[in-house]
Amino acid sequence: MVFINCIMQVNGLKDRAQDLRKSFIDSLEEDIRDFLINEAELHTYDDLTKVNPVTPSTVLKCLQARYSAKVFYTHAGCTLVALNPFQPIPDLYSLDVMREYHSAPQPQEFKPHIFIVAEEAYRNVQGQVEPMNQSLVYSGESGAGKTWTSRCLMKYYATVAASSQKCQDTVEKIERRVLGSNPIMEAFGNACTLRNSNSSRFGKYIQLQLNGSQLLVGASVQTFLLEKTRVAFQAPNERNFHIFYQNSVFFILPTVEAMINLGIDESKRTQIFRILAGLLQLGNVDFRPALEEAQTCFLQKTADLLQVPLDELQSCLTVRTLRAGKQNVLKLCSQSECSVRRDCLAKVIYAQLFDWLVTFINNSMCADRSMWCNFIGLLDVYGFECFLLNNLEQLCINYANEKLQQHFVAHYLKAQQEEYVTEGLQWSFIRYQDNQGCLDLIEGSPSSIFSLLNEECRLNRASDAKQFCVRLQKELSHNASISWDKFSKQPHFTVAHYADKVSYQIEGMMEKNKDPVPPELISLLQNSQDSLLHSLFADGDHESEGLRGHSKVVTVISKFRNSLESLMKILHSTTPHYTRCIKPNPDCRPLTFKREEVITQLEACGIVETINISAAGFPIRIPYGNFLQRYGLITNTRLTVQMNQSNSPEMSNQAVLGSAVEDVLNVVLKRRASNSTLSPDDNNNMVH
Ligand code: ADP
Ligand code: MG
Repeated sequence: MVFINCIMQVNGLKDRAQDLRKSFIDSLEEDIRDFLINEAELHTYDDLTKVNPVTPSTVLKCLQARYSAKVFYTHAGCTLVALNPFQPIPDLYSLDVMREYHSAPQPQEFKPHIFIVAEEAYRNVQGQVEPMNQSLVYSGESGAGKTWTSRCLMKYYATVAASSQKCQDTVEKIERRVLGSNPIMEAFGNACTLRNSNSSRFGKYIQLQLNGSQLLVGASVQTFLLEKTRVAFQAPNERNFHIFYQNSVFFILPTVEAMINLGIDESKRTQIFRILAGLLQLGNVDFRPALEEAQTCFLQKTADLLQVPLDELQSCLTVRTLRAGKQNVLKLCSQSECSVRRDCLAKVIYAQLFDWLVTFINNSMCADRSMWCNFIGLLDVYGFECFLLNNLEQLCINYANEKLQQHFVAHYLKAQQEEYVTEGLQWSFIRYQDNQGCLDLIEGSPSSIFSLLNEECRLNRASDAKQFCVRLQKELSHNASISWDKFSKQPHFTVAHYADKVSYQIEGMMEKNKDPVPPELISLLQNSQDSLLHSLFADGDHESEGLRGHSKVVTVISKFRNSLESLMKILHSTTPHYTRCIKPNPDCRPLTFKREEVITQLEACGIVETINISAAGFPIRIPYGNFLQRYGLITNTRLTVQMNQSNSPEMSNQAVLGSAVEDVLNVVLKRRASNSTLSPDDNNNMVH
């Protein structure tokens, strides 16, 4: 590989800066650096590697200037930064624009856009040497624009990878289905939160399957950790999943239309909506004695809609079966225990229904394995979360983000620099933040937050938050990523994540990890007359707490970790493309850029390190063969190499090519050495 280093010369300003720096105190350094940038031109910098010098403040200024000029995408070396405009931008994502990027010989010469990333992945997927699956990974906090990006990309591929006139019938159907999966999954998996009115409450990795002619022939989707507690409880000013509010024709229509496109027939749709109505009625059941009459009314409606006997429903919500030796003992539940059971019933039904939908969607869009060769994967997981109160859900979400950050660090920051070293290029290592320590704390062995939490759940004793906190301190305080606030009265622990410090409350965490489902609830649902509801629990897959041996309790953490592990394996086997979505203000206001908000996000994802490595590194890589075709003329090596290539296509040839490249480079270097007045072009292209 030939590496060409593009160095931006800022007309002598660097030297002046050095003089200036000497004469000013340290605290002024940042201001002086900023002085170097030509502010009027800042918005024209399509790639942050061109900003000179690269500091958090210059990068921020550049992005702000571009945002004001309504330019929302900027390259940052190997990554793309996407600023959320929070308002529709006419024509930015039109079919014409898609076709323009798709048909361009060099799309990267166009204005930065998510479509450049999309097109690069599309062209890579059938790489010159060997086909390679691709992954598009977008990260960012809630409301930053990940799901929007995911939708845009799906539309892009459904457009450019569509079968022109040929076998329209099947393929058109596939495109409709792939795009149609979005409204359904968003209706059931998204909700209005304080941070985003359409916040995804689950993670999603969708694989778009392409055949040998690069046509979209199918897709499959894998989901992660639906926030099912939302069915039973919503924080103040937040809402339940969208589907529960889509009772007017206007809102429900797109969901129903998508269901029809996916092949969910009318009777299934009726069943789905009946179950949802049952959950709404169930949510109204109140166990306060004074409300007994109203409770019976809601219970009756719930029983009707879920098609289960009223008395069984009532008893399984209010009576607990205990095993005493070989005998069963019935015990009346307390008021709060009844509420826990009610919520548990709602959560388990909703989660199973969601999984059923995902399976249905997969069956309807997944192509037979013989039909497709490669895939492009789109990853849309919930962003990093830090609330006033954080619990197991946030721990899992933030752990997933740590894993993705590590993937980025390993794939880009580490691998890039190691490649330079193996290629024998002069390189001084640029330091970056490695989050291995934090991951060890969360998931490492022998002792970590996850292992201790799981152990606690397996012991099956009444969980005590204070005791657990003491245990964490004893076992994990050697890790620098964990700390405790001495003044806090609640048992908690604080983790220094790559993005921010987050305090997790321990109260309730063990119970959430066990996620126990009383066996009575499962048998109630197995006896439902509703065939769909019955089928959701019929296969015994869903083990309740009474059915599973405590030694092999499958905890929430273990399940989540396993599914994430398999996702990471897939990601590692693909060529990744990263997009950093940035939320320019916390209130989702159109075209409003809050510097403090943005800088925190830029720092969290290590954007400055990324730019520095890209800028100091070798952004242009040309395979030997291509290089010789273009520049071989200089030494006449082109012909020799071409002959060689035709004689032996596999080319032990790297060596032959390598020495031919060297010949060309030597000529160039000699010319440069003998020519004291280099043209500006030469100056910008230092050849190593
Ligand atoms: P995330 O998935 O990262 O939580 P979303 O993709 O849901 O965030 O984006 C939040 C909101 O921001 C969207 O509902 C949309 O209104 C707006 N938005 C995001 N990206 C864009 C964009 N490129 N153009 C216009 N509006 C956008
Ligand atoms: Mg989202």
